[in-house]
Amino acid sequence: MMPASILDMSRDELRQAVTHAGFPVYRADQLADWVFVKGITDPAAMTNLPKARQSAPPSPDAAATCALGVEILSSRLVASDQDADGTTKLLIEFADGQRAETVLIPEPSRATACLSTQIGCAMGCRFCASGAGGFVRNMTAAEILQQVLHLRHALANPGAMAAPRITNVVFMGMGEPLANYAATIAAVGSLIDPDRFALSARSITISTIGPARAIRRLANENLPITLAISLHAPTDELRRSIMPAVRDSIDELMSAAEYFFQSRKREVTLEYVLIDSVNDTMLCADALANLARRVRCNVNLIALNPTDDCPYNRPTSGAVRNFAARLKNRGVNVHVRQSRGGGQSAACGQLRLRKEPQE
Ligand code: SAH
Repeated sequence: MMPASILDMSRDELRQAVTHAGFPVYRADQLADWVFVKGITDPAAMTNLPKARQSAPPSPDAAATCALGVEILSSRLVASDQDADGTTKLLIEFADGQRAETVLIPEPSRATACLSTQIGCAMGCRFCASGAGGFVRNMTAAEILQQVLHLRHALANPGAMAAPRITNVVFMGMGEPLANYAATIAAVGSLIDPDRFALSARSITISTIGPARAIRRLANENLPITLAISLHAPTDELRRSIMPAVRDSIDELMSAAEYFFQSRKREVTLEYVLIDSVNDTMLCADALANLARRVRCNVNLIALNPTDDCPYNRPTSGAVRNFAARLKNRGVNVHVRQSRGGGQSAACGQLRLRKEPQE
């Protein structure tokens, strides 16, 4: 049986596990210091822990690393790509051979981790690479958090130009976070735990296409995170044509956004991927402006990053500017998001698709 993961344990639970394995309680705090403060995951590098008891993984094949009888990682890095702008994309493989990708976006004043929550995605949005291979399985909370540990290794690379710590997390990698609700919320709990990843809840963004009832449930969690809703179209017909899994109406979604704002007093982000001649018309901009007026929100525009086999095109930068200007003229807070890491497998799910194991 696999030992329990340190990523699933609170400070007290780790102390119990370590004493249960026959070590003094202070060893638990030493181990947590290595993993969460220093970002070290290799037991051999944990110099103040007892050498003899740093057991090897239970089976030689397992990817797991263990210290004091506690699992640290059950995954290994299989590929890494760094773009000229410093964006680093990692592909990591779990014990069952499934792979997830995770991205680090370094900026002068912060470093953002973009995390996956599922292997594949069931939503099948027609512009998104994650949906292309279908849904495989949910990730556990420990697997979601392991991405942060792998990214911290990447940060520590002497070549990487980045802030020394991960400061922000966006759940915008593979998968639909609210379709893996419990694991996502458990991972957020650990990210904001001062004894664990110690991030501010305000620097965490959950991005979702819905449904509305999951957004309402999230609003009731008492977590001051940022909610980003992947809207991408101002009418139900258009939205359903590019996002086939959508069931709720935009009206239901916007009511849930209002409820989130009322409950959490946090401005909501509306994400809008601009697709050439599909949703980038001035009519769409006007309809989107009307929707945006319903709730305190920021609209994030991003030009489509065309994936392999994607039936759509990226709009010209002029079209993006015009769309943004139209919204701005109508009083909407609008930001044009730069797509980072454009040099290689940048869009969600692309790295995984390109490095699919050849079987
Ligand atoms: N399932 C969640 C989170 C993952 S996607 C969601 O849909 O919100 C994170 C963001 O990237 C979403 O807004 C998504 O629509 C966007 N995205 C997906 N594919 C893209 C592409 N090819 N180009 C630009 N943005 C894309």
